[in-house]
Amino acid sequence: MSSPPQSRPPRAVVVGGNFGGLAAAIALQRCGIEAKVYERAPDMGVLQGAKGAMHQYPNSAKACRVLGAADRVLDRGVVWHHWESWTASGKMLGRWNLDELERMMGEPTIMIDRRDLHQALLETLSELDPDAVRTGMRCVGFEQDAEGVTARFEGAEDVRADMLVGADGLKSAIRAQIHGPGELRPTSGVNIRGDTTLGEPAMPVGTSRIYWGRGVQLGLNQITEGRVAWFLRTVRAKQQTDLAAAASLVRGWAAPVEQVLDETEPESVATFELFDRAPLTSWGEGRVTLLGDAAHAMLNTLSQGAAMALEDAAVLKLSLDEHGCSDLPASLRAYEQRRLPRTTSFVNRSRAMGNISLLDNPVGCWLRDRFVSWGNNLVWSRTKKAAAESF
Ligand SMILES: Cc1cc2nc3c(=O)[nH]c(=O)nc-3n(C[C@H](O)[C@H](O)[C@H](O)COP(=O)(O)OP(=O)(O)OC[C@H]3O[C@@H](n4cnc5c(N)ncnc54)[C@H](O)[C@@H]3O)c2cc1C
Repeated sequence: MSSPPQSRPPRAVVVGGNFGGLAAAIALQRCGIEAKVYERAPDMGVLQGAKGAMHQYPNSAKACRVLGAADRVLDRGVVWHHWESWTASGKMLGRWNLDELERMMGEPTIMIDRRDLHQALLETLSELDPDAVRTGMRCVGFEQDAEGVTARFEGAEDVRADMLVGADGLKSAIRAQIHGPGELRPTSGVNIRGDTTLGEPAMPVGTSRIYWGRGVQLGLNQITEGRVAWFLRTVRAKQQTDLAAAASLVRGWAAPVEQVLDETEPESVATFELFDRAPLTSWGEGRVTLLGDAAHAMLNTLSQGAAMALEDAAVLKLSLDEHGCSDLPASLRAYEQRRLPRTTSFVNRSRAMGNISLLDNPVGCWLRDRFVSWGNNLVWSRTKKAAAESF
């Protein structure tokens, strides 16, 4: 494969302008590659339209540190101190101290609104190249040869570059071209989330609680003194998935559950379906690679999807630092080889956790509660180990 002429730096097309795409462009820019992001949305404001709390474990901050975006991200987050498991009737099954994880990894665990994470990455990229993002650009495929890669866009001119990163999410066009359409794997339940503003905090700020019921799992996140962001997963409300349906599923549960749902602002409520995909055994080919959900779409049950996209970008940077830009396909394969085992493990573990969270039969739920309680230390130590593993 020939390298770009000495007179100009390599160019990259990054397809997709959410967390993965922005992080990839930051990584490439920091390696001296002229990376432009091509996003199908008409403007970046559309991607920041929906609020929603995200958990970012220390591995995310560690990745952001490699990308030079950590301070901006951490400044916008709230340090998350405790992760608690409760029964629906109000018995605490386990409590994890996330400050311990911070001591171990040197970075905090945070809760951050997804709009703030996006904005922090966008600002970091804009500082490197104020003209790095092209919106209203839907990529429909690519062609490549020995000299470069050509990205095709709906209703717009082709773009020629030296490499292409498909960071276009769950239904990635780039992935589909390389690996075929594949299948989206559904989950058995529905997911509802919402926001509540309370006069008094329901829990200490920086606390997350999971309440385990039969066929219903409820998570509460105390993000600020006044704001609780919640999500509910259930196999029990296939048809009706509005706020009233959610509130009826947790009627009689321990305080502050009923209050949080009763005082939820209806306009904050959103319902969504969750999917993942079976892990791939290889990602890219030639000058093209995948990153984020396009490469390894996972369920949100371990809160690692966006974090894995950030880790991907960090490793892309480290691989290019190590292998250079003179043989881009070789550097991209090195990046993929380094990422495949860890991301595959998180796809599988996230699905397993999804199955546990929606158990509906009484015996299964009893065993699950014992496991959450007695197995707490085991799970916690494994989680710490996974989060601490080097990427
Ligand atoms: C309810 C929920 C809660 C979650 N909570 C967490 C959490 O707490 N922590 C965490 O780390 N992760 C969480 N995740 C996962 C996280 O949201 C995803 O893993 C993350 O958004 C993946 O980022 P991405 O950039 O790879 O893909 P996406 O976010 O899917 O972005 C892909 C981008 O590509 C664009 N695009 C698509 N096709 C094209 C095309 N053909 N041409 C141009 N542009 C295109 C899209 O418009 C989009 O902007 C959660 C997910 C859900 C659904």
